Amino acid sequence: MIKISNLHKSYGDVEVLKGISEHIKAGEVVSVIGPSGSGKSTFLRCINLLEQPSSGDIVIEGESITAPGACVDKLRQNVGMVFQNFNLFPHKTVRQNITLAPVKLGVMSQSQADGYAVELLTLVGLADKADVYPSSLSGGQKQRVAIARALAMKPDMMLFDEPTSALDPEMVGDVLDVMKSLAEQGMTMVIVTHEMGFAREVSDRVVFIDGGEIVESSEPKALFDQPQHPRTQAFLSKVL
Ligand code: ADP
Ligand code: MG
Repeated sequence: MIKISNLHKSYGDVEVLKGISEHIKAGEVVSVIGPSGSGKSTFLRCINLLEQPSSGDIVIEGESITAPGACVDKLRQNVGMVFQNFNLFPHKTVRQNITLAPVKLGVMSQSQADGYAVELLTLVGLADKADVYPSSLSGGQKQRVAIARALAMKPDMMLFDEPTSALDPEMVGDVLDVMKSLAEQGMTMVIVTHEMGFAREVSDRVVFIDGGEIVESSEPKALFDQPQHPRTQAFLSKVL
């Protein structure tokens, strides 16, 4: 579903991604872990062209997104993204946040989108919040709205960049539960996370990134219990 070949990204003279190759299959749930500053966000942002790769190739569902003339709107429609800080539109209601993009891009009519918003809000446990503004929501509720908003485009895959890092501890579980149910429904997901318990329980595979490179990638049990690389061992000994 996502095939990444020799992806490089530099900012000026600083090379942040140093040749990443990854193959993510349909329905696969991949957690990305690694130290702060190792390039995890940059990696995720390259997958939906929020950052332009310096070189390398990314093919999504058979289409190169790095080739000249690739359609960014279509890509963003197919690849939902959830950020650490929610990024909701503060001057729009929850329902408007969810329906804006699908209506604007002609994926649905306003009435279809309104109906679908109710379905999605039910899915994330916030059916009663359609008409409130984000400022009246807790962090965990905001993040669940952000997930519903990303799902409104009916994406084939979802990218999450530390979706629970900005939340008070008591809010984390609700957001992880929504993500877990998405995973169980077969959504293809790439999740940058510090939630090692979640990564272990929900992922099909865990990828450890350090210094802009994939150092190790394997099933969660193998990666957490028997990390092969000394850099993985050192990282895990600090966070587990
Ligand atoms: P992580 O998500 O693993 O913490 P990032 O991908 O955010 O890491 O950042 C990797 C490195 O790239 C860091 O050193 C960061 O300072 C640098 N970086 C990220 N975005 C930019 C940018 N827009 N301009 C310059 N440097 C950046
Ligand atoms: Mg980051």
